[in-house]
Amino acid sequence: MTKSKVKILLLYTGGTIGMVKDFKTGSLKTFNFKNLLDRIPELQLLDCKIDTVSLKTPIDSSNMKPKYWLQIAEIIESNYSKFDGFVVLHGSDTMSYSASMLSFMLENLAKPVIFTGSQLPIGDLRTDAKENLITSIQVASMQKKGKPVIKEVCLYFEYKLYRGNRTTKLNAEHFQAFVSSNYPDLAESGVHLKINDEYLFKPNLRKFFKVNKNLDENIAIIKLFPGIKKEVLESVVNILNLKAIIIETFGTGNCTTEKWFIDLLRQAILKGIYIINITQCTGGSVMMGHYETSSELKKIGVISGKDMTTESAVAKLMYLLGQNISHNTFKIKYEMSLRGELS
Ligand code: ASP
Repeated sequence: MTKSKVKILLLYTGGTIGMVKDFKTGSLKTFNFKNLLDRIPELQLLDCKIDTVSLKTPIDSSNMKPKYWLQIAEIIESNYSKFDGFVVLHGSDTMSYSASMLSFMLENLAKPVIFTGSQLPIGDLRTDAKENLITSIQVASMQKKGKPVIKEVCLYFEYKLYRGNRTTKLNAEHFQAFVSSNYPDLAESGVHLKINDEYLFKPNLRKFFKVNKNLDENIAIIKLFPGIKKEVLESVVNILNLKAIIIETFGTGNCTTEKWFIDLLRQAILKGIYIINITQCTGGSVMMGHYETSSELKKIGVISGKDMTTESAVAKLMYLLGQNISHNTFKIKYEMSLRGELS
């Protein structure tokens, strides 16, 4: 009996990767993904069966919002048992946000979900799309003893496989557009595809796959800068129905010690608003209490985002706010690793 082929679902959400140049007008437009196999004949050489599906209206990822995350999650949910792995084609601009969000929405995921895209359209002569797409499909197809090797949401770009919720888009021009400063690469593609097994996420396989669909967008981010005025923080804290604020602080989670600043945060916390401390630095972690300039934050009950990226901090916040949990549980869950998003 011949071994049945691994089945991969390719989900096109939009972005540069899926665009081709219209020879008449010269402008970039999306092409029909049903004809993907004709466009990239190399895909037929892969030892897997590929089906394609597209969002109803593919988008530039700068228009990403919870409504589309829900569509992506629901497509994966309704195809979960039929496929061995999923590759999500996505614009690079907000890919790290989406990969982070899907990691929280897809609970007890036991199959690979690989986000990828490209800096140049797939129809461009110098495109980076083909390598990104082909290797993503290969990574999603990898099996050991009939089970997927990768069991988490990843991002593949320019020869590297990253844990999705650890990535940040760092460069708007280079093919190497993403970075994972606080977590090692999961795999590197060279002559061989080298998987770093010790860093892969190991889910509890006894738990059932479940999709969390309730996301709460009532959040805000404030990036601190020297000279920030009271009115700025005041206006954010007073936003109607606001449930949480991420403060992007300096270094290891430090901020001004001016009284008005701490007072406003304290009042917000007393009103029930969660305040999350995330560092502006691309690498390293928040350590509240390490300097005098962060001790006060710890005392008033600010939650530590530790070494999470801002993208992950946003995703985790929308996800946990949608969970209807007590303030205590919220703080405990936010500060612990749920999907390998923090160290
Ligand atoms: N603006 C595009 C997007 O994020 C850029 C890209 O695809 O890389 O959809």
